[in-house]
Amino acid sequence: MSFAEEKAVVVFSGGQDSTTCLFWALERFQEVTAVTFDYGQRHDNEIQTARDIAADLDVEHHVLDMSLLNQLAPNALTRDDMEVKEGEEGELPSTFVEGRNLLFFSFASILASQKGAKHVVTGVCETDYSGYPDCRDVFVKSLNVTLNLAVGKEFVLHTPLMWLDKKETWELADNLGRLTYVKENTLTCYHGIRGSGCGECPACKLRQAGYEQYIQEKERELG
Ligand SMILES: [Zn+2]
Repeated sequence: MSFAEEKAVVVFSGGQDSTTCLFWALERFQEVTAVTFDYGQRHDNEIQTARDIAADLDVEHHVLDMSLLNQLAPNALTRDDMEVKEGEEGELPSTFVEGRNLLFFSFASILASQKGAKHVVTGVCETDYSGYPDCRDVFVKSLNVTLNLAVGKEFVLHTPLMWLDKKETWELADNLGRLTYVKENTLTCYHGIRGSGCGECPACKLRQAGYEQYIQEKERELG
């Protein structure tokens, strides 16, 4: 089976970044499939948010069971008995799941292969990567080569957010005409609250700061 140029699989969590990537892909590719990995996230609401957005956008959606990840790498996102906290200097934050993107991108690519899709899109970002080694551009490029060798096909891994900060990710959503949708329907908050979230956790603070920065700049430009 050869690849269709116009088909893409998007790694999709229902958060701001991957939802923006989903819109990015929908604008470029004729056929888009979203894939969400269920690894025992602290909040079932994450999976439900992904399901709701995919249904709302009429996008084919697969939820794959990756609960084995919790066996391998207990961490604050999957274990109720660990607190979400930012890492000390030079230390990884407690939300880190070792090798998560390695596994997610590999499984997404296998799904893409079965769908006959050449393109795999992820919201991975090196700019504020918090020290996650598998968020780096060099990792994605390396994995792309490995996947091509593993499957014997020529995948293209797309990372539209790789060099964007949070402000620029909001700008991208706005350029795609989806700023309000992303703001109101996605879930980034560690406490499982959609939209603007709890406003207190590190994810909410980062998201909110980027949004405010973008809106302020936009207003200045509009005079
Ligand atoms: Zn929050």
